Amino acid sequence: MIAPGSVWLVGAGPGDPDLLTRKAEKLLRSASVVFYDALVGPGVLALVPDDVRLVPVGKRSGRHSKDQDSINDLLVRAALAGERVVRLKGGDPSVFGRSAEEMTELATHGVSVHICPGITAASAAAASASISLTLRGLARKLTLVTAHARAGETLDLEWNALADPKATLAIYMGKAAAKEVSDQLVRSGLAGETPVLVAENVSLPDERLVHTRLDLLPIAANAIGDGPALLLIGEAVRPNGAHGANGASAIRNRQTIRT
Ligand code: SAH
Repeated sequence: MIAPGSVWLVGAGPGDPDLLTRKAEKLLRSASVVFYDALVGPGVLALVPDDVRLVPVGKRSGRHSKDQDSINDLLVRAALAGERVVRLKGGDPSVFGRSAEEMTELATHGVSVHICPGITAASAAAASASISLTLRGLARKLTLVTAHARAGETLDLEWNALADPKATLAIYMGKAAAKEVSDQLVRSGLAGETPVLVAENVSLPDERLVHTRLDLLPIAANAIGDGPALLLIGEAVRPNGAHGANGASAIRNRQTIRT
């Protein structure tokens, strides 16, 4: 399935191996080497056959993170050595996955690259929370942003554009910035009571879903652990699809922070 000397960027989904595509699983079986990110769950790695070389290249792999240049280098060298390379990434490779850099570098060296999509964290979090990311009339837009700032820098986000009451905002890598996200969105006009879901370790056994509201987001973010966490913000995030007049009041009592 993988031609020798070529690379597949493969989406591993949010962690639960059952959320891997069948194609991703076939690719893992056909690889000679798999370079994987820290976000890739152990259940997914367990699907990689014993004779395939598994190489961690991510930040949480218990050693120093490889910088993007050295990851690019590893991929190029493996491909040029004729290996069947899988680059396994958490979620979907095309969402905050640095896949463009890797593809460009591989193309520069004449290596052919393909992508196998995966379930991104926002989709998986919505499924776990039994909500829809879009809602007819109420949430007509879905925005994916990253709130990861370089060390010592503030977030460079268009807060006025993001503070759209008719949109759902999915903030990746946003836990550390929860206070700034809350402050800036409220300052830009989004209501303090806007529903927010903080979703940690989605699809994994230690998954945690915290329903809160925008003005209380910093407290909720502090209350969760240090697993990967996604922030979902907007009307669509109101639990159990309770968006009608009756539902809205029924749900008010449920906006508790579960710790
Ligand atoms: N390509 C990935 C995103 C990589 S950025 C995707 O499509 O999902 C890393 C961020 O993704 C994390 O900081 C977190 O915000 C989110 N994320 C990834 N896996 C997650 C999970 N299982 N639960 C919650 N958030 C997750």
